[in-house]
Amino acid sequence: MPKLKIASYWASACGGCDVALLDLHERIVDVANAADIVFWPIATDFKYADVERMPDQNIDVTFFNGAVRNSENEHLAHLLRKKSKVLVAFGSCAHMGGVVGLGNLFSRKEIFDAAYTNNLSTENAGLTMPNLETKVPEGKLTLPEFYNTVKKLDQVVDVDYYLPGCPPNPNRIFEVFGAIVAGKLPPKGSVVGASEQTQCEKCERKKSEKKIPGFKRLATAQPDAETCLLEQGFLCMGVATRAGCEHRCQKSNTGCRGCYGPPPGVYDQGLKALSAIASVVDADDEATAKAMVDAIPDPARYFNRFSIAASPLHRRSV
Ligand code: SF4
Repeated sequence: MPKLKIASYWASACGGCDVALLDLHERIVDVANAADIVFWPIATDFKYADVERMPDQNIDVTFFNGAVRNSENEHLAHLLRKKSKVLVAFGSCAHMGGVVGLGNLFSRKEIFDAAYTNNLSTENAGLTMPNLETKVPEGKLTLPEFYNTVKKLDQVVDVDYYLPGCPPNPNRIFEVFGAIVAGKLPPKGSVVGASEQTQCEKCERKKSEKKIPGFKRLATAQPDAETCLLEQGFLCMGVATRAGCEHRCQKSNTGCRGCYGPPPGVYDQGLKALSAIASVVDADDEATAKAMVDAIPDPARYFNRFSIAASPLHRRSV
């Protein structure tokens, strides 16, 4: 059987998704036996021009991680879409915008001000900002355009599959790779490498009737390691998140952060979590409820930590 041609690209992301591929450890040998890597900038010395020279649909499967934050990400999204038979949105940022998508709560100007002028560690008396083009004696230097809005991959190009997680669990990656090799992928548009059930449905912590008298934070309180975190007052996104990660956060005694995205049929992950948690708050009057909610720092970033770009909120109006 001819070997598959696969590619991996890192757009606007932290790099954890590429590390998750390396976390296949010795199983990477099985991948190498079944597939040739034709583009993987973090690990191999391919240039964008190498991809541009490929015939269309030359790559069997591209794993695209990261959100689309700038013009370089957008160019590669279109290029790899054209050159790939199957395009997989790999990881939370490509799937839903991810943590990068939280940039949509600010304008480009606010982000640039925070990064280049208005912070404690930068001296920038001349208010120098990145330029798209800079002339130097040797010629012209260019930078990608930094967009005002972060997009998830399918807001830019057509996507075949979604493999969620921040980062995806290596066991799930390997299972999906096996399905690709065996030609057993589900219908286009499916979420792969994740369960149809929620984290809560698969969670082994002790659960009883939930009634939360108040919210606690890990910075100031220690949960017990066996009882449902939410019942103890620690926020957990398990009710609004697909299982598949093997409960990595809960096993570390911290609440699910929601990186595997919403289960089937959920319109917005943040709203689903908010409504589920609101239904178990032990408050008989508005003042008590308000005091409890006020104890949650930054709810927008908590409930849509990975999904602002995918949510109806999408971005702050700035
Ligand atoms: Fe487990 Fe979190 Fe669901 Fe509780 S809320 S059952 S800790 S996933």
